[in-house]
Amino acid sequence: MSPSCVAPVVAIDGPVASGKSSVGKAAARIAGLRFLDTGIMYRAVTWLALHRGIAATDAGAVAELAARCRMEPAQDDDNAATILVDGKPLRDELVTADVDSNVSAVSAVSAVRVELVKQQRAIAGAGGMVMAGRDIGSVVLPEADLKLYIDAAPAERARRRHAQIILADPEVPYDQVLADTLRRDRMDMERADSPLVAAADAVVIRTDDMDFDQTVSAVVAAIQSVASSDQAAEPRG
Ligand code: C5P
Repeated sequence: MSPSCVAPVVAIDGPVASGKSSVGKAAARIAGLRFLDTGIMYRAVTWLALHRGIAATDAGAVAELAARCRMEPAQDDDNAATILVDGKPLRDELVTADVDSNVSAVSAVSAVRVELVKQQRAIAGAGGMVMAGRDIGSVVLPEADLKLYIDAAPAERARRRHAQIILADPEVPYDQVLADTLRRDRMDMERADSPLVAAADAVVIRTDDMDFDQTVSAVVAAIQSVASSDQAAEPRG
């Protein structure tokens, strides 16, 4: 933890549909911090590749795409779900089934990760930020003031994701969502570069028996405790 940082930098990691983004976003708003969901950056590269007919497995071509585009969160978006790619807002197109099925392959390409991690660190550089992803506490921001790892059993995460998906497509069966959740978890946890892992100094929050508001409260309390201990440690003059 960096004792001089008054507006804390918070890393939140966790598996597919653990709630880290929605919880992180709500907690950041309450704590007055900026929020970035790094998943949408990997999704944006995936969308660009699909859009241009580049295979997600074509490591060289997807790495070039990542290196060529500049991404920044659209801070005027209340849901913080929009990313500006070279100034163009991308949002709903990033959460399609097509992007879902290809994003883990794109995110396993080391050269893509190098580029996006560079951009993520630059965005966090000003401090006062909650950043959510898979490798934030372990790789992107190892000096974060607070590291949280939000988790729940796969069946519970798939149940939550299924409840969301059927609002748009009532035909999608739960078993398909569970299988997809397990497949993406496996790819994210088993990849060679920056696999999903709870950092050694992360606080693990299991949300199986917690609702959304309870989880947000737990995260806000954790943020406030590091913010106040940083203030206490900050020399005033
Ligand atoms: O969080 P979300 O499900 O939107 O992330 C999409 C994918 O992006 C993940 O399954 C993972 O493959 C990748 N990702 C990553 N590192 C991050 C954030 C997301 O590899 N920091």
